Amino acid sequence: MTDNGRLSVVNPATEESIEEIVTTSREDLDRAAGKARRAFAEWRSFAGLDRAELFHELASDLRDHADELAEIMTREGGKPFIENHDEVTWTAACFDYYGEIARDNVGYLPAPIEPQQLALVIKEPVGTVACIVPWNYPLLLAAWKVAPALAAGNAVILKPSEQTPLATRRMAELIEDLPDGLLQIVYGAGEVGEMLVRHPGVDMVAFTGSQETGRKVGVAAAERLIPANLELGGKDPFIICDDVDIEVAAQGAVWAACLNAGQVCTSSERFYVMKGIADDFVEASKSYVESLHIGDPMDERTDIGPMINEEGRGKVERHVGEALQKGAKLVAGGERYGERGFFYKPTILTGVEPSMTVMRDETFGPVVPIVQVDTLDEAIEQANSVPYGLGANVYTQDFEKMLKCMREIRAGTVWINDPLTDNDAAPFGGQKGSGIGRELGREGLEAFQESKHVHIDPKVEKKEWWYPYGPGEESGQRTI
Ligand code: NAD
Repeated sequence: MTDNGRLSVVNPATEESIEEIVTTSREDLDRAAGKARRAFAEWRSFAGLDRAELFHELASDLRDHADELAEIMTREGGKPFIENHDEVTWTAACFDYYGEIARDNVGYLPAPIEPQQLALVIKEPVGTVACIVPWNYPLLLAAWKVAPALAAGNAVILKPSEQTPLATRRMAELIEDLPDGLLQIVYGAGEVGEMLVRHPGVDMVAFTGSQETGRKVGVAAAERLIPANLELGGKDPFIICDDVDIEVAAQGAVWAACLNAGQVCTSSERFYVMKGIADDFVEASKSYVESLHIGDPMDERTDIGPMINEEGRGKVERHVGEALQKGAKLVAGGERYGERGFFYKPTILTGVEPSMTVMRDETFGPVVPIVQVDTLDEAIEQANSVPYGLGANVYTQDFEKMLKCMREIRAGTVWINDPLTDNDAAPFGGQKGSGIGRELGREGLEAFQESKHVHIDPKVEKKEWWYPYGPGEESGQRTI
């Protein structure tokens, strides 16, 4: 894309356009890459403490503007205001965390080869990092990349989703104390994302989004031989053992499936319930789902807001429709809600089969497909049966079962009795087809660092292993 285009940002609760944004052209991106390079030269030599202080000020500004940012996110993304308000505070916490741990992660000393020597491993920034994020957690997922990338000394060019650019733009306005050009935002859809990944001024890409787009980003980065961190989609399993409080497990399960209208990368999308409690679990889930408030995401009573757009809702309708056609049973929901907005009622299905799309592909909507299983081994085998491996949930009080699930489920995160709880201090990412690399924790910082080994010998002297390999001249045996 060489010219500026325009994109309409739509409120998913009303289907009305909120604002038209101007997209970034190739010339704009060239200028941004030049500014980023100059800012990087300045920023890489900032002391860690100075960076940390700027991060703490930024975190405090974000908290001071939490209501405003949450309202913008609610209008552009449809997530309930209360969840967006939480998101702003988690975003601030992420900047606080990386401001501090970056001071503690500048390298290490390996044992040298000889005792008088000094070996150092220095952690250096990569350069200009392109961060590309989706619409479901616009500020938080940006912070998971931007905070560690900047804390490691890089410059960042951030592309928010074309669906949700407005809160990101406001956040960037609040970041006025950072050096000019250190964090820049580019706007647009896939073409702008692709232009960014392929731009010669970009040294690394950190991407969160669907598996399909992630593959394209990975290929484009590989062609340029630049590193790519990929955080992709999931099809998370949720196992419910028969030793737990069924009401609690059912409520945890429904929440894990329906949070943000099921549009969380770690939404639980497949439920494996021990046969002995399955009927009671379905009944408890049904009554909980029927008690939830669906509607205006700005209303504080609202539990479930709209989906992001017609395309997202259409995918859910296709998955549910195919399952029902192939013999699944509808227990709750299964239809749209209201006259306007992309609402879809929380839906419970039973009688689903592993071959159904709703059990194989990412649905990304408020759907709870429930399968009865006879044993924990069967549940784990089913859990591992798809090519995704982002997260997994288990409900049990039995410590042996916890350990078994911890060891045998192939996923980047296994939550036991506390679904979907993120922790800045622990790595997050996918096994199998759910991604390459990790965010958060120390690994999330190291992702944005290059390692440089420096080997210092304080003595200038000839080493005994240099030429000549044969016996020396004193022996009188050398011929040349
Ligand atoms: P998406 O893949 O359609 O888009 C993600 C971002 O990539 C957007 O900013 C988009 O404009 C950009 N993009 C599109 N085509 C591109 C290209 N060819 N090159 C570069 N950038 C391009 O995803 P989405 O619909 O915005 O988000 C939903 C998906 O994100 C789901 O699959 C969800 O599971 C996943 N997700 C993953 C995580 C995680 O941490 N693993 C977190 C949240 C969401």
